[in-house]
Amino acid sequence: NRRFLLVRRPAGTPVEQDFQLVETPVPAAPEGGMVVRNHFISLDPAQRGWMDDAPSYMPPIALGDAVRATTVGVVHESRNPDFAAGDWVLGLNAIEDFSVVLPGGFTSAIDISVVDSPSRYLSAVGAVGLTAYFGLLEVGQPQAGETVLVTGAAGAVGSMVGQIAKIKGARVIGIAGGADKCRRLVQDYGFDVAIDYKGKTESELSAEIAAAAPDGVHVVFENVGGTVMEAVAHNLAQRARVVLCGLISEYNAGERVGLRNLWQIIVKQATIHGFLIAGYVNRFAEGGAQVAQWIGEGKLRVDEDIQQGIDNAFPAFMRLFSGANTGKLVLQIA
Ligand code: NDP
Repeated sequence: NRRFLLVRRPAGTPVEQDFQLVETPVPAAPEGGMVVRNHFISLDPAQRGWMDDAPSYMPPIALGDAVRATTVGVVHESRNPDFAAGDWVLGLNAIEDFSVVLPGGFTSAIDISVVDSPSRYLSAVGAVGLTAYFGLLEVGQPQAGETVLVTGAAGAVGSMVGQIAKIKGARVIGIAGGADKCRRLVQDYGFDVAIDYKGKTESELSAEIAAAAPDGVHVVFENVGGTVMEAVAHNLAQRARVVLCGLISEYNAGERVGLRNLWQIIVKQATIHGFLIAGYVNRFAEGGAQVAQWIGEGKLRVDEDIQQGIDNAFPAFMRLFSGANTGKLVLQIA
């Protein structure tokens, strides 16, 4: 049982020495629990936050523990009457070959016959797809004809947000890093306008957004924060809704600066609404069914970036911060 441990809290950008891959015996299922063989591991920006000893919506990963992760796998041994060996499951586990699931631990059965790959439960019909779906539609509530702006637009969540906004009849602007991602925003995901944020100052970026949205932006789906968010704040329409989903530009920063031009929120009478997908778990079936239907109808394209092997866990994870990932980043270990 290979396990990818957090052995030191990263200071800023994680380095390989913060982690250790160890070999341990395959665990036995505890009374009322089970052991899951992980096949696909979700690599998420959120994991970076869980590595810090800071107040959050979940306790930090303890030093010496395997790095917490959402995984898709197969029940290896079960002493839980609701699951049998061989069942495919989704759960909050860790980057390791085998995970012990305690009684009451978060695990749900998944039907892999309805998807082309079990990894879809980590992307399209998993937390990523549902973040895009509920964050945009429940919080952002775009109306047909409005302008929606998405940051981190070429990523897993962002690319789905933009496409769902288009399905709802909005005009969609995406901000992403680099010419290739910007080309993909328009060609692959159907965004109306793509803006490359790399190497640009706040005022340069703000001017490009103003040119793309002369009447302002009605809904912002914010994944990035920092300079990008500040440039967007100058371009809000009156009573704009900002869905605050992520602040990835700050995750490796020692200091969190937030929005330095917060004043723009007053000027525009805008609303910033913090969003956590955890608040929607009881509506996953509803959201998953709608997302699956759009995919079936060819209206929604969901890309995955599948990296191979637990010994690649560190470089694979770092793709999120270099921007190397093209689609939902997943580590396949079986
Ligand atoms: P992505 O697939 O979007 O991958 C991360 C992307 O972030 C990279 O590809 C890169 O794209 C961009 N990025 C990395 N560093 C920076 C930086 N310093 N400045 C600007 N952009 C950067 O990941 P996800 O779709 O999984 O997550 C996207 C966001 O959604 C994250 O902020 C995450 O925390 C958040 N999230 C929040 C949830 C919630 O419940 N609130 C649930 C799930 C995700 P580029 O090349 O364009 O720079």
